[in-house]
Amino acid sequence: MGRTQASTYCRICEPLCGLEVTAEDGAVRRIRADREHPLSKGFACPKGIAMAEIQNDPDRVVRPLRRRADGEFEEVGWDEALDDIASRLRRIRDQHGGDAIGWYFGNPATFSYSHPLWLSAFMAALKSPHLYSAGSQDVNNRFAASALLYGSPALVPIPDLKRTDLLLMLGANPLVSHGSIISAPRIKEDLTAIVRRGGRVVVADPRRTETARAYEHLPVTPDGDAWLLLSLLNVIFEEGLEDAEACAVQARGAGTLHEVAKDFSPESTQERSGVPARTVRDLARDLASAERAVVYGRTGTCLGRYGTLTAFLIDAVTLVTGNLDRPGGGIFGAAPMRLDELLRVTGLATYGKTRSRVGGYPDVLGTFPAGVMAEEITTPGPGRMRALLVSAGNPVRTVPGSAALEAALDELDLLVCIDLYVTDTGRKADYVLPATTFLEREDFPLPFLQNHLTPYVTWTDAVVPPRGEARQEWQIIDDLARRMGLALGALGLQRLAYHMGIRPSPRFLVDLLLRTGPRGDWYGLRRGGLSIRKLRKHPHGIVLGEHHRTGTLRRRILHKDKRVRLDPPEIVAEIGRLAAEPAGPRARGEAYPLRLIGMRELRSHNSWMHNVPGLMRGKRRHAARVNPKDAAEYGLEDGALCRITSEHGAVELPVVVTDEMTQGAVAVPHGWGHQGGGWRVANAAGGANVNLLASPRPGDLEPLAGMAHLNGVPVAIAPATGTER
Ligand code: SF4
Repeated sequence: MGRTQASTYCRICEPLCGLEVTAEDGAVRRIRADREHPLSKGFACPKGIAMAEIQNDPDRVVRPLRRRADGEFEEVGWDEALDDIASRLRRIRDQHGGDAIGWYFGNPATFSYSHPLWLSAFMAALKSPHLYSAGSQDVNNRFAASALLYGSPALVPIPDLKRTDLLLMLGANPLVSHGSIISAPRIKEDLTAIVRRGGRVVVADPRRTETARAYEHLPVTPDGDAWLLLSLLNVIFEEGLEDAEACAVQARGAGTLHEVAKDFSPESTQERSGVPARTVRDLARDLASAERAVVYGRTGTCLGRYGTLTAFLIDAVTLVTGNLDRPGGGIFGAAPMRLDELLRVTGLATYGKTRSRVGGYPDVLGTFPAGVMAEEITTPGPGRMRALLVSAGNPVRTVPGSAALEAALDELDLLVCIDLYVTDTGRKADYVLPATTFLEREDFPLPFLQNHLTPYVTWTDAVVPPRGEARQEWQIIDDLARRMGLALGALGLQRLAYHMGIRPSPRFLVDLLLRTGPRGDWYGLRRGGLSIRKLRKHPHGIVLGEHHRTGTLRRRILHKDKRVRLDPPEIVAEIGRLAAEPAGPRARGEAYPLRLIGMRELRSHNSWMHNVPGLMRGKRRHAARVNPKDAAEYGLEDGALCRITSEHGAVELPVVVTDEMTQGAVAVPHGWGHQGGGWRVANAAGGANVNLLASPRPGDLEPLAGMAHLNGVPVAIAPATGTER
């Protein structure tokens, strides 16, 4: 094989930066940023470069593992493993029905074009509703808000950073996260360019984040976003600053929104939002008067008690100020294939089509909240989950109140994990099946095509062969389905092909969609059109235009009257629930007077990253950040151990005293505190599982999307006197 060099793209997070991979005899030797990539132009963050360490990690699982009677794992052949798993799943299905089998997939699954397609098809073939994802700890509220606003959960506006004059950003830290629900590899340059051309970037966050430091920081109370957004709407409507034409032509229900916003004057909300009334009034006027403005929110706005309402209000402010579907505002990216139609025809873009057995939560894109999984396993009755497959996910470290899930996993008849490592979840599994890394698989950025700030498309082949016996997830699923006698068919076409005895590959299906799409080659009928063959000739991808077209909303919205709903009853009810909230967070005598928030770290993303020596080196340690006044009030010293307690649990961590924190807020990154998996560096990294502080009760999830409540969790803090729990 010798020495090879190949271009590919990173699939750790959403910028999808271009990478150059050098390999020798099929083993990755070096990863560098791809200087010829037209969008990332030689940028890649430390995580993308460190992928070489994950690829070659001696802790990686590269052969199927089976749990022995003594609890240890032993290597086993693929046939033996899949035969046994298939026969146990068949038995469970025969005895209890297909809905006794569940699947949880983690964030990395969505970066594979084939993995989610095949697992959706697998679950559809089983007729099981038990599909769970990391989305309820991240983004499902955004999709739920889109379903209410536009009739489609898959229609999500992206901020047109290249043309805006004023960006109000809530709960996002793109200088560290590199952007989410937007693919813009050089996002820092895009943000700085706004300021250079005389515009503003306003960052609303309880913490003076890296992004807030670089631009304008607007300190807010944890979980106070909905109050702030409603008071912005209050000023805009009460002062007659709304874009009346946009409200009348693009939307329905602006009058109702105006009416409900009347109760949220800036003076009445300042204690809840943490933003002085004067500042809110000025910001509302600026948003309304700016030539081009947009509001954008990410994870920090998703994990409070009003995540769907907050996502809804973000778009509502953009629309009411005349900036939705306009250059420089919130724009709807177009894919070079008929994704909207595909989702509509296949029925995959669902919201509330079904409800979870526990808690009665609506599905979001066919998934239920991961926060109900524990009780779905332990609650007797029809539809009880008795087998669980977990791919590219580590739910015992990521779901709220994860101790309950960890205990519930012991009650399953079968737990199978498909992953790169024996994770904290995998250590409880009956089988751990080795998956390929993204370097070992071909790929296409299917879920992100609409999110590229600059219209762009690419394809990558695998750049190295799989290590050991690792297989792609879709191949494992396909093989398992065959052994179970299931015909996979989430896509009608796929199902038809299966019934004809043809097993189409993901590549065949995607090529078909690309070639018959608006930019496709129509199998030779359109010269210069797109196909996978053509993309393979452009290893750095193809830029399809400078900007996405605007003025497309009417065509893409799925409500029959083609207008945005500003008055869904679900949202009006949520505003009523918000208005009935009791007093502010630091009410006298409250047992848990502080509010916990999460935060992003440059060298963390998912659990895998904590086993990379190159990312964990230096003085990295898990810590809680507190404001100096809070430190003084609660007797905390910088560097000393503190104990954070909530109604649901306690963790102990070192304290970092910093004025970047707003008084009353405590920031702790998630995803630490690994214990007992097969990853030595992650286990040795220490830290605590901060999700133990969140409520494990399904009834405490956010009602419209089942979002975990991980931001704004009431906590108390004190010097540590005992041992870490
Ligand atoms: S920013 Fe994200 S996509 Fe880019 S190199 Fe880093 S991890 Fe990969």
